[in-house]
Amino acid sequence: NVRVRFAPSPTGPLHIGGVRTALFNYLFAKKHNGTFVLRIEDTDQNRYVEGAEDYIINALNWCGIPFDEGPTSATLSTGSKNEQFGPYRQSERKLLYKQYAEELIAKGKAYYAFDTAEALDAHRKDHEAKGKTFIYNWHNRLKLSNSLSLSENEVKAKIEAGDDYVIRFKSPQDETLHLKDIIRGDIKIDTNVLDDKVLFKSDGMPTYHLANIVDDHLMEISHVIRGEEWLPSLALHQQLYDAFGWNAPEFAHLPLILKPTGKGKLSKRDGDKLGFPVFPLEWKDPKTREVSRGYKEDGYFPEAMVNFLAFLGWNPGTEQEIFSLKELINAFELERVNKSGARFDPEKIKWFNHHYMQEQDNEELAKVFKPIVDAKLNVIASETKQSVAIDEITTSQAPRNDSNIDENFIALVVGLVKERATFISDFWDLTHYFFSTPNNYDEKALKKAFKEGSEDVLRDVMALINAINDYTTENIQNTIKGWITSNEIGFGKVMMPLRLALVGALQGPDVFDIMFMIGKNETLKRMENAIA
Ligand code: GLU
Repeated sequence: NVRVRFAPSPTGPLHIGGVRTALFNYLFAKKHNGTFVLRIEDTDQNRYVEGAEDYIINALNWCGIPFDEGPTSATLSTGSKNEQFGPYRQSERKLLYKQYAEELIAKGKAYYAFDTAEALDAHRKDHEAKGKTFIYNWHNRLKLSNSLSLSENEVKAKIEAGDDYVIRFKSPQDETLHLKDIIRGDIKIDTNVLDDKVLFKSDGMPTYHLANIVDDHLMEISHVIRGEEWLPSLALHQQLYDAFGWNAPEFAHLPLILKPTGKGKLSKRDGDKLGFPVFPLEWKDPKTREVSRGYKEDGYFPEAMVNFLAFLGWNPGTEQEIFSLKELINAFELERVNKSGARFDPEKIKWFNHHYMQEQDNEELAKVFKPIVDAKLNVIASETKQSVAIDEITTSQAPRNDSNIDENFIALVVGLVKERATFISDFWDLTHYFFSTPNNYDEKALKKAFKEGSEDVLRDVMALINAINDYTTENIQNTIKGWITSNEIGFGKVMMPLRLALVGALQGPDVFDIMFMIGKNETLKRMENAIA
């Protein structure tokens, strides 16, 4: 019975590494018909950030990897089953943890410590001055202020006097721990290098370590899949499971995500510096009001993001790169996750986006592109004081007027150019001439396309077009191609000036498609303009 959890702390927006962790948990859960749990680890009240939890939930939903169990939100509908294992916010489980800390004390696996922050700080500074690091553990715990170094009465008195205390794990001396990780294999740790981690704090809250272990146990988590930064905690976690006498889940620590250069861990600043988002959705910091870009708002498709993230540390062992979520679920195996860091390549996610652009529904794309078209046309109209170009309604296209281009028409246009587009924001540059008459020509193109005799050629073609009754792409093409062939004119001599007249540059899809789409009158008008 596979149960996995994604356990973010709501200390800010979910970054790309967090989404990758969530995705791998999701894929593993779905592959094994298991349950994907979202648990909010908010025991550190100082680092709590307003809105972060909703952001996390929205981000998972946008990616298409919703959780099966998790917190129900006042503002979001989460669809959570929220059964026997809730609540899913650690702050709401607060009262639960103390008894577990006390259980460890009773078992001799943990102890009260009364060291003040100042005293610990002084020890730290003292060590630093000698070039050493201060570790609180077996080698000095008897010199420090804790229930192992004080008499029973002293301890009692301190607790009764209301002295601040924490509960620390009593990390053993001279033992070798044997840890297992699905990705990393067997790991041996000498307990002498471990410190006596704090499990419970004076504010009545457990630390991450205790809450995490208790909840993974109570929520019957079978596999812990998380980032490599938690690998150093594995020794303590395993010891906690052992101390409680619980079966530990299996562990899989995912490799670091590296900067595009491959050197060092990817950070939020890399995105800011190098101009790519590191967050799935836009994030407005509630304190600084600073806005960070998101993949969604930058025009990425969730399918592209998911496909891209899946390859950050995992590969299927084949050449296949394009995977739907379903295919990922089928192919995913923790055993195929790499140990070494995964380089983040912002060009690669663009490549995926271009791929998924081709799979988008033209009508859906048109819905998003239409407001852009309308806005651009309004600007053009106000600048040129001219009405916009298209004056003819052809075939299937529904009626439209200048400032309100029909969505079906936009969908057809989008279909013609999307193989050249990575983002919806690319569309206007690729298609403006479908919506408005070009008012200048690209100079280089003009030199290349307009030669002696081009005017005559255009005039002849205008006559041909005029004579076409049933103005379809096919008829236009047959007429013009037939004329070129029978008069033995070079193809380019006709098509280049024609394209320039229609587009204003030597780019775009098939000229005959363009002629059909803009209509007969507009075609003739643009050719006339080019000759004049
Ligand atoms: N709350 C931890 C985090 O923010 C969870 C680590 C874990 O998955 O154990 O990443």
